Amino acid sequence: MIIASGGIQHETNTFSHVPTTLADFQRDSQCGPNFEGGDFLRKMYTGTAKIHGGYIAGAEEAKFDLRPLFCAHAQPAGVVTKDAFDTMTDLFLDRLKKLGPVDGILLDLHGAMVTEGFEDAEGEFTRRVRDQVGTQIPIVMTLDYHANITAQMAKLANVIIGYDTYPHVDMAERGREAALLLARIVKGEITPCMSYCQVPLLTLPPMQCTLREPMKTLIGHVHELESRPGVLTATVAMGFPYCDIRDVGVSVLVTTDNDREQSERFAGELAHRLWDLRDALDPQLTTIEEAIRISRSQPDGLIVFADGSDNPGGGAPCDGTVALRALMDAKFDGAIVGVMADPETVAQAHQAGIGATIKARIGGKTDDRHGSPVETEAYIKTLGDGNYIYQGDMMRGVQGDLGRMAVLLVDDVTIVLSENRRQLLDAEMLRCVGVMPERYRLLVVKSAVHFRADFGPIASAIYDADTPGIHRPDFSNYDYRRLRRPVYPLERTTEFSPQYTTNESPSR
Ligand SMILES: [Zn+2]
Repeated sequence: MIIASGGIQHETNTFSHVPTTLADFQRDSQCGPNFEGGDFLRKMYTGTAKIHGGYIAGAEEAKFDLRPLFCAHAQPAGVVTKDAFDTMTDLFLDRLKKLGPVDGILLDLHGAMVTEGFEDAEGEFTRRVRDQVGTQIPIVMTLDYHANITAQMAKLANVIIGYDTYPHVDMAERGREAALLLARIVKGEITPCMSYCQVPLLTLPPMQCTLREPMKTLIGHVHELESRPGVLTATVAMGFPYCDIRDVGVSVLVTTDNDREQSERFAGELAHRLWDLRDALDPQLTTIEEAIRISRSQPDGLIVFADGSDNPGGGAPCDGTVALRALMDAKFDGAIVGVMADPETVAQAHQAGIGATIKARIGGKTDDRHGSPVETEAYIKTLGDGNYIYQGDMMRGVQGDLGRMAVLLVDDVTIVLSENRRQLLDAEMLRCVGVMPERYRLLVVKSAVHFRADFGPIASAIYDADTPGIHRPDFSNYDYRRLRRPVYPLERTTEFSPQYTTNESPSR
């Protein structure tokens, strides 16, 4: 049994003014300028917590021949250029053609990519794959928990499997599940019938977190549903809200073994459960001034201030200065702000060297929506090359690349800077440059939720930040034009009557 695998992963923030280019994919994928496939990808992902790590493990278990052809991703940002999308899609299709006949395909996609030509870029990618291989080859697709799933994707794939966790700590597990399910389809043991149902609901990252209620209990229901006889898999996709497209938001999928009535009934059950949570999914935000006050009133413990509005993992610049400036103004003793992307200041610090004091202009350089640059004298505490291996549950084993780094001290505030824009989701990203977060009082983290996987256990309290930005968890911040209407909570009077789409895969 020969199974091909591959895909493009991008979470597109359409409110960002920074386009995502082919060069961004080339740099972030770490596969060389021509996107090496085959053994290169196998070596890169074997044993890691990523989707392809799970595909590889599943292939060994089900004893099929996995051929990883292409796997590219870029840090979330603005719309993907036409050139980048066409070039990468053609590379995948060309390698698939050269491979010859395959028994099935695993597609490693995100589900919230928008390109210059396509709002539903994953649907378009899958359409091009179907055009080449026909309708008889089974396709199992894995998607992020933040996928904005469309009817087109649900029609074209035999099965779609999304993550069940946020922070995403089950990527390898879902990849393995996809590989094992595809092997059963190829052997003719099962005939998946997948029903998709969109919910007229937009939700925001802080409350999408599955370590908190209400989503913790909801995911428990998904797992209970998956244990029912005849159910092969079920997925809740909460959607990536910072994406002004028609099909943004919450959707569910239930796949049964050839039982359409059952898959629709269970999808409806899940969709109604989500709809009933709509009021409980509203986040509560805290200002930095309030976080400082709380920290000062407590004798010890690390308070984490989740500056999700400037989360690079959702396309924000990662150089916002609002919290930093407030900490400096308050002369707060024992805070870290990081990791901020500021290649200019990093270069200046490396030029001056450890122990020097520089006149710095920190952050606020991408746009005027995340605070202005902070001009100050800064002491250079440490410098680093930004290479590390992720140690936390989400990305364990993956090689990290922050680019060069610099740790600056301004009064008693420690500022961790990097050349590359990366979400601070693993404490190793600070430790690699000598910063031990547990020794501080307040950490401003450029992350909405993912940091909880690794920083949660060392935090005494976590607050969702009330800061400005293009990843701010507040719908009044965005002017949606393409989004279907009505949708909750933009129109609070929205009503919900489920409609179902079922996959068009041939029954065997
Ligand atoms: Zn995600």
